[in-house]
Amino acid sequence: MADKNRILGQRELQVRVLDADLCTGCGACVNLCPYQASYNDNIVFLHSCDLEAGRCYAFCPRTPTDLEALRKTLFDERDLTPEIGAVKEFYIARATDEQVRKKAQHGGTVTALMALAIQEGIIDTAVITEGQENFLPHGVMAKDPSDIKKRGKSNFVMSPMIAEFNRIAKGEHNKIGVVVTPCQALALAKMRLKPIATDANNIDKLNFVIGLFCGWAFSWRKFVDLLRKKTGLDTIIGMDIPPSKYHAIEVYTKNGTIEISLDDVTSCIREACLYCFDMTAEFSDISVGSARLPEGWEVARSWNQVIVRTQIGHELMELARTKGLLEFRDVPEGNLEKLKKASMNKKRMAVKNLTEKSGSSDNLLYLNSNDPVFRAL
Ligand SMILES: Cc1cc2nc3c(=O)[nH]c(=O)nc-3n(C[C@H](O)[C@H](O)[C@H](O)COP(=O)(O)OP(=O)(O)OC[C@H]3O[C@@H](n4cnc5c(N)ncnc54)[C@H](O)[C@@H]3O)c2cc1C
Ligand code: SF4
Ligand code: SF4
Repeated sequence: MADKNRILGQRELQVRVLDADLCTGCGACVNLCPYQASYNDNIVFLHSCDLEAGRCYAFCPRTPTDLEALRKTLFDERDLTPEIGAVKEFYIARATDEQVRKKAQHGGTVTALMALAIQEGIIDTAVITEGQENFLPHGVMAKDPSDIKKRGKSNFVMSPMIAEFNRIAKGEHNKIGVVVTPCQALALAKMRLKPIATDANNIDKLNFVIGLFCGWAFSWRKFVDLLRKKTGLDTIIGMDIPPSKYHAIEVYTKNGTIEISLDDVTSCIREACLYCFDMTAEFSDISVGSARLPEGWEVARSWNQVIVRTQIGHELMELARTKGLLEFRDVPEGNLEKLKKASMNKKRMAVKNLTEKSGSSDNLLYLNSNDPVFRAL
């Protein structure tokens, strides 16, 4: 029987990922060679490549992967849960610095941790995302805590920032930290296994990965068209996705908040996200999302849920605690269970959509139907 996990080349990446609408736009196939580029939220092939086995295919989070082997290699098996991956610790936390929180999407935990890592020399370079006026985010490197503090928040369009990691990992930057979506965390985890010898050691420069929770991302063009119908783009100062019971996204403008119903927004979701199994960035050192608290969304939005998954993640959180950069509150009863349930719902939906796409429950395209997590579904 053919090995489904065999590494193939650019041709197969085109057919099995791009043509199949599975491309997440993560950027992992860009800046490895001169042949692929990211342009306006799409991956374009500038030249064809006839290598039978390429890094682009090997690192892509939407080519088949032995996820169980990856989990067991990267995490302590005793920490693994089927619902949300490895869990060493679970917190409700936020940045103590109000200025950090003001510029952050939620509690500013991500910004506080990244700025601390640079400050303390744990990393010499961070690769994060920067928004642009045209709402097309991209990856940038930051070498100073102040560079990180001015780049919080998100517009929920995919940023191809792994391309920036690939670019700078070739250079003199030796200790790199990144902030990524779950699909990007998976791409980096695949790189860590060094499946192809060329430049294999670049990934050793990656010191840690902070993953963001992610329900879905927007397709840039569709989302910008929708926003344009609702308001002037130059009036928008931020946006957020409240809990699902609100059934809307909030767009903050200079003239007040606009709510856009999920019924309008759904058609702007990137198609690849419908086939995504990971809500909590399971292949990260620390995962961060918005909090859910008994006081409701108005209070919860300025806090984060934090999953610590690895020893390096633990050490960074403890340093932030010791230095008083993060504050913590008690985790409300049942919070972790609710998160696990939401995560399983995303996996269930991915399996359903992949089954419909392939026409068979035995063929989950990039997922292995015998993986213990998906088999249980
Ligand atoms: C596409 C997307 C979907 C999300 N969906 C959910 C969700 O369903 N549920 C949930 O709880 N949380 C979700 N989040 C995460 C949430 O929006 C916050 O980023 C998270 O709670 C951390 O908050 P913070 O205040 O600590 O972040 P901040 O301190 O503000 O830092 C945010 C960091 O995110 C980086 N960033 C911004 N946009 C992107 C991007 N497109 N790709 C990669 N990095 C980016 C910034 O560079 C910054 O470093 C999503 C994030 C994204 C990007
Ligand atoms: S998912 Fe990422 S690695 Fe795969 S084709 Fe798209 S951008 Fe490239
Ligand atoms: S839903 Fe999945 S595929 Fe889409 S941006 Fe989030 S992690 Fe990536």
